[in-house]
Amino acid sequence: MTAYDYIIVGGGSAGCVLANRLSADPAIKVLLLEAGGSDWNPLFAMPAGFAKMTKGVASWGWSTVPQRHLNGRVIWYTQAKVIGGGSSINAQLYTRGNRKDYDAWATDAGCDGWSYREVLPYFVRSEDNQRLLNVYHGYGGPLGVSYPVNPPPISHAFLRAAQEAGIPFNFDFNGAVQDGMGHYQLSTRNAERSSASSAFLKPVRSRANLTVRLNTQTLKIDVDRGRAVGVTVATGSVTEMIRADREVILSCGAIGSPRLLQLSGVGPADALTRVGVPVVHDLPGIGSNLQDHLDLYAICECTGDHTYDRVVQPHRTVWAGIQYLLFKTGPVTSTLFETGGFWYADKDARSPDIQFHLGLGSGIEAGVAQMKHPGVTLNSAFLRPRSRGTVRLASADPKAAPLIDPNYWDDPYDRACAIKGLRLARDILRQPALKPFVLAERLPGDNFNSDDELAEFAYRSCKTDHHPVGTCAMGGGPNAVVTPDLKLRGIEGLRVVDASVMPFVPSCNTNAPTIMVAEKASDMILGQRALPPAVV
Ligand SMILES: Cc1cc2nc3c(=O)[nH]c(=O)nc-3n(C[C@H](O)[C@H](O)[C@H](O)COP(=O)(O)OP(=O)(O)OC[C@H]3O[C@@H](n4cnc5c(N)ncnc54)[C@H](O)[C@@H]3O)c2cc1C
Repeated sequence: MTAYDYIIVGGGSAGCVLANRLSADPAIKVLLLEAGGSDWNPLFAMPAGFAKMTKGVASWGWSTVPQRHLNGRVIWYTQAKVIGGGSSINAQLYTRGNRKDYDAWATDAGCDGWSYREVLPYFVRSEDNQRLLNVYHGYGGPLGVSYPVNPPPISHAFLRAAQEAGIPFNFDFNGAVQDGMGHYQLSTRNAERSSASSAFLKPVRSRANLTVRLNTQTLKIDVDRGRAVGVTVATGSVTEMIRADREVILSCGAIGSPRLLQLSGVGPADALTRVGVPVVHDLPGIGSNLQDHLDLYAICECTGDHTYDRVVQPHRTVWAGIQYLLFKTGPVTSTLFETGGFWYADKDARSPDIQFHLGLGSGIEAGVAQMKHPGVTLNSAFLRPRSRGTVRLASADPKAAPLIDPNYWDDPYDRACAIKGLRLARDILRQPALKPFVLAERLPGDNFNSDDELAEFAYRSCKTDHHPVGTCAMGGGPNAVVTPDLKLRGIEGLRVVDASVMPFVPSCNTNAPTIMVAEKASDMILGQRALPPAVV
């Protein structure tokens, strides 16, 4: 049987970081296993390639179960299946959240070592910031972080409109203050996507001690007398076992990791028994505590060709392609969501609880309405949901889709804040600064005004913001799935390192926080001393 020191299961945002950091020592043999394929197609590298990505490219093709509090709605639930994982298909927004998010991990969830001051150095270690250098930012790390290349005039008008609506301009959401609107930093470098694959994996792929296997799905973690000793994988129809001499590290993401643990008999005993999986270790927290951001949105029709909707016309697509290839400018350099920010639905909230994404078009993401004439979209997501959902198995078959239940709006507070967020979005779009650009709101439109009407609109139109976390939550208490050093409780030689370990969803997009988690985990796995806390 082939053996490695570390087997990393899942080559996504976290898995690629781990592959880089763990294989830095040539004496350590590392295997990275990814169910999806390569990211060679240039669409992955083009920032605007994101438009294709929520519609099924490089994804597992899963949906939620009918959502009880959204009138039974089933929501398309993109999860990446490609090397680089979510970072290869996401909108490339680089946000870290609020310092209070991480302080709450430490104080409320008992995650010693994960306060803001302790995690900030790991954000900075990854970073190759195009412009910023201070206590919050650095350069020279693997991950490219840049401002948008050429935001169109409507983006600037949007920022003026936000200020007219009382929301200040903010130059750096990842610095001292998160509040306000501005242009996002993006995980891009030289107008190309900086995914975990291109930033962390590609530069080290030739290391002799690192093996990367694509199109290889892990079917189960092999546990012997309370210790993870390896994995069983399938490449096409060929199944084999691979041994891990030190650790198996699970980085399959917030849906994939609890799914694989349950397929391996590790999870809540009652749920496993229901689908006929023999119980290896009863750990009720696995697959529980699912949190996600739900997006609501308003779409306006524009007075003219102010966004990128018309770029889909064949002659414009060709021109945009030429512009990109020759000059690295034009619509292809845009991630299509590159402006937005953070504000308050609940004025008493400890920090901003609504995030806005300005979409430079309509119908950019799967399921979102496309306007006949050029449109502009403003997404609003409530950031700190109180509802908790689950990831469970539908059957013991490793090929079957899991039952994903984010349980959106189970807590009425989430619904109330989401609707306030949508009202804020509509208010910004109606401000004078946008008048030259915006003809009229088309969705929700004039017939939707009361809270119940807006909820009715949301039932039909809402979508995931793609930020699932929490399903293998770390913590200090007995209900946590992993300890603060990310070891699975009750099984030796097994860690979880990905978005699933976050006890509370951060108030932002989740790629940069996941990369931070993997950076910090790599030091723990290698037994290195943690970076000194930042002085902020
Ligand atoms: C469409 C979309 C848009 C997003 N937009 C943004 C954004 O703009 N900014 C941002 O910060 N965040 C964004 N996110 C979220 C962010 O990308 C994720 O939070 C992050 O990628 C999670 O990283 P991860 O390592 O936990 O999981 P993933 O990156 O999902 O990696 C898990 C990997 O494991 C593999 N895997 C799963 N099961 C198995 C198995 N059994 N065997 C082998 N391999 C397996 C998967 O194929 C996948 O490649 C977006 C996500 C999506 C899906």
